[in-house]
Amino acid sequence: MSAARPARVGRPLDVVVVGAGLGGLAAAAHLSQQGHTVTVVEREPIPGGRAGMIEEAGFRLDNGPTVLTMPNLLADAFAAAGADMADFLTIDKVDPMYRACYADGSTLFVRHGREAMTQEIREFANAKEAEAFGRFCDWLERLYRVEMAHFIDANFDSPLDLVKPWRAGLELVRLGGFGKLGRKVASFFDDERLQRIFSFQSMYAGLAPYEALSLYAVITYMDSVEGVFVPKGGMHAMATGLAAAVEKAGVTIRYEAPVTRILRAGDGSVSGVELGGGERLAADVVVCNPDLPVAYRTLLGGVDAPRVARRGKYSPSCLLWVAGVRGLPPADAAHHNIHFGRDWDGSFRALIHDGVRMPDPSILVTLHSLDDPSLAPEGCSSIYVLEPTPNLDGRIDWVAERERITGSLRAQVASLGYPTDVVVERVYDPLDWEAMGMERGTPFALAHTFLQTGPFRPNNVDERVPGLVFTGSSTLPGVGVPMVLVSGKLAAERVQQYAEARR
Ligand SMILES: Cc1cc2nc3c(=O)[nH]c(=O)nc-3n(C[C@H](O)[C@H](O)[C@H](O)COP(=O)(O)OP(=O)(O)OC[C@H]3O[C@@H](n4cnc5c(N)ncnc54)[C@H](O)[C@@H]3O)c2cc1C
Repeated sequence: MSAARPARVGRPLDVVVVGAGLGGLAAAAHLSQQGHTVTVVEREPIPGGRAGMIEEAGFRLDNGPTVLTMPNLLADAFAAAGADMADFLTIDKVDPMYRACYADGSTLFVRHGREAMTQEIREFANAKEAEAFGRFCDWLERLYRVEMAHFIDANFDSPLDLVKPWRAGLELVRLGGFGKLGRKVASFFDDERLQRIFSFQSMYAGLAPYEALSLYAVITYMDSVEGVFVPKGGMHAMATGLAAAVEKAGVTIRYEAPVTRILRAGDGSVSGVELGGGERLAADVVVCNPDLPVAYRTLLGGVDAPRVARRGKYSPSCLLWVAGVRGLPPADAAHHNIHFGRDWDGSFRALIHDGVRMPDPSILVTLHSLDDPSLAPEGCSSIYVLEPTPNLDGRIDWVAERERITGSLRAQVASLGYPTDVVVERVYDPLDWEAMGMERGTPFALAHTFLQTGPFRPNNVDERVPGLVFTGSSTLPGVGVPMVLVSGKLAAERVQQYAEARR
């Protein structure tokens, strides 16, 4: 990856970035490329935000994202900081990407690369389904190309911006992007198990496959076609690596520096931030990485969050159990293991519409130490178990139910043959996510319904507060590591527009 840095444009500005999540760090990288003076202020002692890590008793346990897709976008952030990602981070592909275990006892290994996966499907199902996989990948690829350039890697000033690239819009219609995802995937595959493995990714966007638009199959493209990767040292290494690269590029990062207020001048524009101890940092621009609705409420007193952030539909949340355990995983376990429950549409209905726990929960079990033994002491393993749950708009009383639900999750994991003799553990439920500053107790922000995406999602600028720019999963383009890296780049473009307008 090239580490070339273009010449900066215009007068450099003093920029404070609030938060060293991946969105904030990506913004800092691109801002340093533009030649601005950048200070990142982070409330925690480590970078990464949701991509965090616990270090205890010889274990290093990731407690955030586990599925890294599109590592080229991560490499772009390093390149913006004038760095070669390989000097800071080693990334390996995960193969098989997933072990999918179905309630009927069958197992599908989702393989890296089209050829290997075609062969796998041929053996798992039949030749017709294997041939359908080729057509499915071609369709996904065309969909991705149209969407990435015109609708994901793009700032929006109005809904009209959505129709300006009209050729791309027409192509999306032709590709069936506005039909329902579940039906579209079923038009390729007869086997219900394949329909599940190629449509469950809509959950990452906070939607059930039967309600998500086919547009969101780009997420399936990102993992099933482009592949799943893992950084050496755990997912958190993305954040420490990127933080080191931006510091090398001249960015100052201050940890344990919580921002309590975004300061404004008489004309309403930002003038800096106030930190916990009362210290003030002056700034021409403030780039804000905390959850957007929470930032409006707690840092921008007197300015309401956009209506969609206040009234919108938030993604489901999750119950996360991470543990360092004695013992090793079963021999056929993979890095990522999805254990599907029996019911499919019913599970989504429970989770998203009824606000209750899935009756027969589907869970993700990630075994980071399987591919990286440095993450656990000898003879031990790291285990990460995620059960999707309703967010705090749902009907679960987490104070009353936490112990019972966590107990049943642990029992499910043990019954699947994983080691559960705990040395270290942490449990995060929606109340914990809320306490960490995540709206409605979900780490997955506003759901990606059509009317909460693109120009309809809370924008990354607010004309009431000149000089304020948002980055992260609650603004454009959306949720997940690839998207927040793009959001950092889009935020830096907004800063550049602001700098040029002030000249
Ligand atoms: C359990 C879990 C599983 C996930 N799985 C995946 C996955 O497999 N693949 C994937 O792509 N994505 C996944 N995600 C989503 C992904 O992690 C997030 O979308 C992304 O990391 C969010 O980054 P961000 O920069 O928007 O926000 P954050 O990471 O939340 O960053 C915000 C930063 O701001 C800081 N901050 C907040 N308030 C203040 C303040 N007042 N002053 C100073 N600093 C402040 C926070 O400490 C934090 O560092 C997962 C998330 C979780 C939690």
